Amino acid sequence: MSADLVIKNLHVSVEGQEILKGLDLEINKGEVHAIMGPNGSGKSTLANTLMGHPAYEVTEGEIWFKGQNIVGLSPDQRSRLGLFLAFQYPSTIPGVSAANFLRAAVNAQRGQHDASGNGDRKKGSIPMREFRQLLKEKMALLKMEPSFASRYVNDGFSGGEKKRMEILQMAMLQPEIAVLDETDSGLDIDALRIVSEGVNQLLSPELGVLVITHYQRILDYIKPEYVHILVNGRIVMSGGPDLALKLEEKGYEWVKEALTGD
Ligand code: ADP
Ligand code: MG
Repeated sequence: MSADLVIKNLHVSVEGQEILKGLDLEINKGEVHAIMGPNGSGKSTLANTLMGHPAYEVTEGEIWFKGQNIVGLSPDQRSRLGLFLAFQYPSTIPGVSAANFLRAAVNAQRGQHDASGNGDRKKGSIPMREFRQLLKEKMALLKMEPSFASRYVNDGFSGGEKKRMEILQMAMLQPEIAVLDETDSGLDIDALRIVSEGVNQLLSPELGVLVITHYQRILDYIKPEYVHILVNGRIVMSGGPDLALKLEEKGYEWVKEALTGD
C-alpha cells in the first residue's frame, strides 16, 4: 500500500528557475517527519508547492494525496482534501477578527462546491453554536486566552502569537497532513515551547506532520520519527532523530562534503 502523501521526482520552477530538482518523500497519517535544510535550499518552495501556490510551477513529477495526483488542484481543493500549511510568514488581516476568519475558513472547507469551486456554502456551514463550542475547545487545548478570538488576524500580534494563530487554524480545520514551514523562526525559547506544545496536543494517528526547519531546536519539542536533509532542491539524506543532532553538531557543510566525498 502506498503512503497517504507521496511526492515523486518533484521538479519545481519559480520565475523560470528550477528550485526543486527531483524530490521524493512519503508521509503517512500518524507520522512526524522533519525536513532540515540551509537557507535557499527550497524548503518554502516545497511547502508552497504542496499547497498549490500559483507562482510555483511543477515542471515534472507527481504529488499523490489519498490516491489522487493533486498537481493542478487549487489550494482550496487541497485544503478540502485534508492538506494544511502553516506559513513561515503569516499575513495580517486588519478588520477581520480571528473568530470570523476561522468561521469563514471552516465554512469554506465544509461547504458544498461545484466543479468551479463556487457553490452553496450555506449547505455545509457550521452552526454558530457548534462553531463557538469548537473554537472554545481548541483554544483551551492550545492554552490561548479567549480574548484572542476577537482580535484582528495577526494585527499587532507578536511572532509567537502569529504562529499560535497558525496552529489554531490547523486545530480548527483538522487536516490529515499538515506542513509547518519554519514555525520556529522568529520565536524566543518560551514562545517556541508554547507553540510546540500546541502542535503536540494535535498529534494523533489521524494526522501526519511535516516540520520544516533550518535549526534542530524545534525538534527537541516536536519529536520527529523521520528526518530528511534538503540541499539544493533534493533530499540528500534521510534518517532517524539522531540525524538532526548530528547535523546540529557538524553543520550543513558536513552534509555537502559527505555528498561530494571531499
Ligand atoms: P528556503 O525556504 O529553504 O530558505 P526557498 O524555497 O524560500 O528556500 O527559496 C529557494 C530559492 O528559490 C531561493 O533562491 C529563492 O530566492 C527562490 N524563490 C523562492 N520563492 C520565490 C519567489 N516567490 N519568487 C522568486 N524567487 C523565489
Ligand atoms: Mg523558507
